[in-house]
Amino acid sequence: MTHSNVIHPLCVGLFAGPVDQDNQSAGTATYVSAMFEYLILGSGVPILVDTGTLSEQSASERQHRVLHRPANMDPVRVLEPFGLTAGDIGIVVNTHLHWDHCSGNDRFPGARILVQRAEVAHAIDPLAEHRRFYDKISGITPAWLAAWDRVQAVDGDLRIAPGVTLIALPGHSPGSQGVLVETANGRFLIAGDNVNTYHDWINRQPPRVIVSEEAWNQSVRRIEMLECEVIPSHDLELVDHPPFGA
Ligand SMILES: [Zn+2]
Repeated sequence: MTHSNVIHPLCVGLFAGPVDQDNQSAGTATYVSAMFEYLILGSGVPILVDTGTLSEQSASERQHRVLHRPANMDPVRVLEPFGLTAGDIGIVVNTHLHWDHCSGNDRFPGARILVQRAEVAHAIDPLAEHRRFYDKISGITPAWLAAWDRVQAVDGDLRIAPGVTLIALPGHSPGSQGVLVETANGRFLIAGDNVNTYHDWINRQPPRVIVSEEAWNQSVRRIEMLECEVIPSHDLELVDHPPFGA
């Protein structure tokens, strides 16, 4: 069956290096990576994979990261060129629940939100060294919980729309998942943070943050068996990249 799905990578922020506590002008440094959400059109209902973070301020205060987000990189405004509003998104998929992939969930009021059950459990009580990535910080309520009434926990692989399938890929986090998209021009996998950049994928370089190297290696083999083109999560090459599958 031929599918008409198309994937649009949408940049919702640019990262400079870690904040230098002694030199707050680090914000002018060259960007080192980018934050994305991925809009999948063609399966009937608009699907959004990941929803970015709240704001430049929250990235700085909670994560000590310098994020550049001009108004045209707002997670809702990036939908405007497609004639879409926030309410048009029917499904949100979170590849995982780290702060930079799910904090905008509440801004899409018509969407059910699909997350692996293992990820929900880990977000509630993460490994000590991973607490910050989940905004598990004293006095802070993680932003994704603002939409928790619409979260649906998923166990393993699941077809969610014609030609669109969730693939469980633990490694970077216990409940990381990818989204396999069949298009008229091949199969593509939105890989989440298991694959940060094209360079990492070519070199089979694991992400810096990982809960299980064994699980990550198994997920890599799983991805290889899918025989698809891999779309990484934070590669600057994806800024203004043409759509996949068009
Ligand atoms: Zn992550």
